[in-house]
Order: sequence, then C-alpha cells, then structure tokens
Amino acid sequence: MTASSTAATTSTNCRNCSAATNGAHFCPGCGKIQPLAAGADYFGFFGIPRKLTVDLATLERKFHSLSWKLHPDHFVRASEDERQRSLDLSSQLNDAYRTLGDPVARVEYLLSLHGMRKQGQKKQQAPPELLEEVFELNESLDELREARASGGNAARMSGLRAKLESAQQKFESSLADVDQELARVSADWDAALDSGADEVTMKKLMERMNEVLNRRSYIRNLVNGVKQELVTGDE
Ligand SMILES: [Zn+2]
Repeated sequence: MTASSTAATTSTNCRNCSAATNGAHFCPGCGKIQPLAAGADYFGFFGIPRKLTVDLATLERKFHSLSWKLHPDHFVRASEDERQRSLDLSSQLNDAYRTLGDPVARVEYLLSLHGMRKQGQKKQQAPPELLEEVFELNESLDELREARASGGNAARMSGLRAKLESAQQKFESSLADVDQELARVSADWDAALDSGADEVTMKKLMERMNEVLNRRSYIRNLVNGVKQELVTGDE
C-alpha cells in the first residue's frame, strides 16, 4: 500500500500506445481496454457527476452500452492482460450499476466515499418518535411467542396477530416517510453542490443523511422482524 507501489500501476497513459487515457475504459488513441483508473468511483465509472439525483434511464443506457463493450466474449483473442481487464471492469460495472441504481445504496455509497457512513450504537436505539410504538410492538411479540409456546387459544392468537399486522402497517408507513426524507436531503445535497456550498454545510448534510439511513435501517429491521414472526405463525 505504499505510494510508490500504487504509482507504478496508476499511470493514466495507455500501455499500448502511450496516449493519455483520462480514466476512459478504452484508450482514445488505440482503443485498447484500460485498467480501472486509480481512485475511480462508481460515478466516475459511468462518467456521471457525483450527485444523488441520477437519471435512471441514462444510467441504464450507459450500463447496457458498457456491458456490451466490456463483455469478456469480445476479448477471447486478446492478450491475457486485456481479458483480465474486461473481467475486472465487467464485475465493477455490475457493482456500480446495482449501487447507483438504488437511491438508498447510492446515499450509503456516497457517504462511504467521504468516510461518513457510521453505523454506531445509535443504530440500535429506537427513534424517539417511535419509542412508544416499539415498546408496544415488543410486548405484542413477546405475548404472541408465549401464547404460541403454551398452545394459546385461537381467539387470543388471532387478536395478537391483528395487533402485529397493524403495527407492521404503521412501521411501513414510517419507512415510506423516511424514504421521502432521504429524497429531500439528497436533493439538498445536489443543490448545495451546485451552489458551491462550503465544507461545513456539506458535512452537515452528510451527517443528516447518515442519521436518516440509521433510522431507516432500524425501522426496516422492525418491519422484517414482524413479518418474520407473522410468517412463523403461519407454519
Ligand atoms: Zn492506446
């Protein structure tokens, strides 16, 4: 991981014809496939700005076009080196597409690029506005498990199930609210970028995104837990 060992492999000139490649996947001079550019991120991979509003139609078009150009089938008669590059880039392409195509994964990725994604202990705590509901939910879950273990009567079981189903709906609507909030803060991020906001502003926005993501992950776990419990009851 020393600077010199990376420097040797991060040349931005084509090894075939020495033309400057500027991070392109194919040399503008000779057309040979290039290794992944040093420090390239998923946004750079697609040649799109590092923003949270991504035009999905454009992304998909670029994905299909690159997918075709980088396909290992085109490199069966190429050198071992080029064949390997096509494999590496194809795999990177798929990861990049999956990540940038999803608005939540996209924010997570952006934060990780900035070293700002933190899933600390806070992740385990219920968001204050949901504390009461989470408490009630856990009670119902305990009751249901107890009733099931002791072969509880059908009426009681179905009452508890109904309670859980309504809790599930409530948390699913909280999840939708959180997604909207994430969309809002994403739009704020892009607007701040466009207006050349200072570092402090950008950092605050990333902290907000991180907080929203933690809340989202907490609620999603709740929803999944309830779903799981309801499915178990069906067996
Ligand atoms: Zn070249």
